[in-house]
Amino acid sequence: DGPDGRSFLEKWIETDLAPGGRCHKQKVLTRFPPEPNGYLHIGHAKSITINFGLAHKYGGECNLRFDDTNPETEEVEYVESIKEDVEWVCQALEMEKCKKGGKPWKGEVLFASDYFEKMYGFAVDLIKHGKAYVDSQTAEEVQKNRGGGPNNLPGVDSPFRNRSPEENLRLFEEMQAGKHPEGSLLLRAKIDMNHPNMNMRDPPMYRIRFSHHHRSGDRWKVYPIYDFAHGNEDAIEGITHSICTLEFENHRALYDWFLDNTSTIPSRPYQKEFARLEVQGAVTSKRKLLRLVKEGHVTGWDDPRLLTVRGIRRRGVRPQGLKRMCDAVGVSDRNSTTPWDLVEECWREDLESVSKRRLAVLDPLEVEIVDYNKEEVIEGITDFPDQSPDPSCARSLSFSKTIFIDRSDYQENPPEGYFRLGNIGSEVKLRYSYVIKLKEVVKDKQGKVMKLKCSHDPSTRDVMPADRKPKVIHWVNAKDCMDAEVRLINPLFLPMPDPMPEGKDFLSFINPEAWVVCRAKVEKALGSCQLQDRFQFERVGYFAPDYDCFAKPPKLTFNRVVPLKESSDK
Ligand code: ATP
Ligand code: MG
Ligand code: MG
Repeated sequence: DGPDGRSFLEKWIETDLAPGGRCHKQKVLTRFPPEPNGYLHIGHAKSITINFGLAHKYGGECNLRFDDTNPETEEVEYVESIKEDVEWVCQALEMEKCKKGGKPWKGEVLFASDYFEKMYGFAVDLIKHGKAYVDSQTAEEVQKNRGGGPNNLPGVDSPFRNRSPEENLRLFEEMQAGKHPEGSLLLRAKIDMNHPNMNMRDPPMYRIRFSHHHRSGDRWKVYPIYDFAHGNEDAIEGITHSICTLEFENHRALYDWFLDNTSTIPSRPYQKEFARLEVQGAVTSKRKLLRLVKEGHVTGWDDPRLLTVRGIRRRGVRPQGLKRMCDAVGVSDRNSTTPWDLVEECWREDLESVSKRRLAVLDPLEVEIVDYNKEEVIEGITDFPDQSPDPSCARSLSFSKTIFIDRSDYQENPPEGYFRLGNIGSEVKLRYSYVIKLKEVVKDKQGKVMKLKCSHDPSTRDVMPADRKPKVIHWVNAKDCMDAEVRLINPLFLPMPDPMPEGKDFLSFINPEAWVVCRAKVEKALGSCQLQDRFQFERVGYFAPDYDCFAKPPKLTFNRVVPLKESSDK
């Protein structure tokens, strides 16, 4: 971002909207153009927040267009998932139409394959004007005659470059009629075989494919190539600002050439590029994600360890958290890798003010309070104890002779400066309850600590003692807590060497600790949680109910979204 806080994309759009600008008094129209060949991931979320976010900011709209011009790789399964994921990510944008139950995109979802007829017409227009030709060279010859390479060779004109428009038109029609085998002919733009930008050396526009297309069936035998198709799709829809990632910077000249040379083009969109989001340790390649899922290294596309949009969602990140992360990274015209810490920090900041505080013990250790023989209820505990009390969100906690604390709050041989339970006589304050003092440690035959016996100080239930300040720890009442599975979600991959050593691949770097299951004891109120609830388990981290809580039969399960900020808590 510039010093004034506006990104270069915002400045670009604002210049276009200003008086005298290209789109003055016009509505901004952007698009998000996923190829329906995989599930969306964290990088797509960035593109969604940019494309929908900018349109929304400038009072315009954004199209959701499936870029399904490649018949081989697309599957209907992905279309539905992508729609859902886009809707979910866009929740963070708080668009009025979505609040009224509408969809974030403009009108219906769009399919590039619906423009095959129009694009074919644009190709015919270029052929008729002598700006495109059918090449009969083999693929190898086409490749070789492009020139370039390490020696920066000049290009060599195809011997078919000077076919007449009539002959080109006839051959192109025959290509579409299925009269020529796949790979035998190619429609190319007639630009310049010595152009310094290799993309301009008579790039391919159409190839022959006999594959079945998921929407247009067997109707088409020729399919347009991305560089030709994309600008056409934008022009057909009246896109004003076509935003893509930096790999396409070198293709922009071609994007412009096609639009400027097609006499029948319906509108003139413009392209600009930004740096793609790369997150440290994240695997976002479709091929790799597919292997992780298909080979069973994860539980599915929505595995909370994955940085797919569905994985992130299941883990418990809110759309607002995802957007916060995208905003923090910002838009840049240079590639970089986003540190994992930053991602977690943004997700944590988002959850901070919306997560209800609860008590949960991940690794339970029984504590018997030897001099306590009643049962009592501690009333008026609120979801956000740091804020001014809100009686509407008050709950109660019961307390009895037997409680659980976290095993890590006791240390047999406490190191110097350890202020929790350790030596006999050491004290802690139970959150919302009494100060307790260690009297005795009960072990089994193997020497494992099975139970602590403590006494309590009755004068300390609601107050810190005046003469000392014991460390506050969390606990649950053994009598009415609930068993829950708590999953500590950690990065799916260990740091990978670059380059990858011989004989290894990314799968050898799966982190076995990426999914740590704890048999936890949690306070009763967590038993009635809702899917949209977010919790801070006090002193532990931020958690969200997993889908398993609402499955049949239900199983109380929480995913750790992010740990608490590193603290020097001892
Ligand atoms: P493929 O893996 O098939 O090459 P892709 O990663 O380009 O596909 P698309 O489905 O074509 O995925 O992407 C849809 C949009 O999302 C494109 O505009 C693309 O630029 C954008 N996008 C994809 N990955 C990222 C990323 N890591 N950061 C930002 N934008 C991205
Ligand atoms: Mg793509
Ligand atoms: Mg990709």
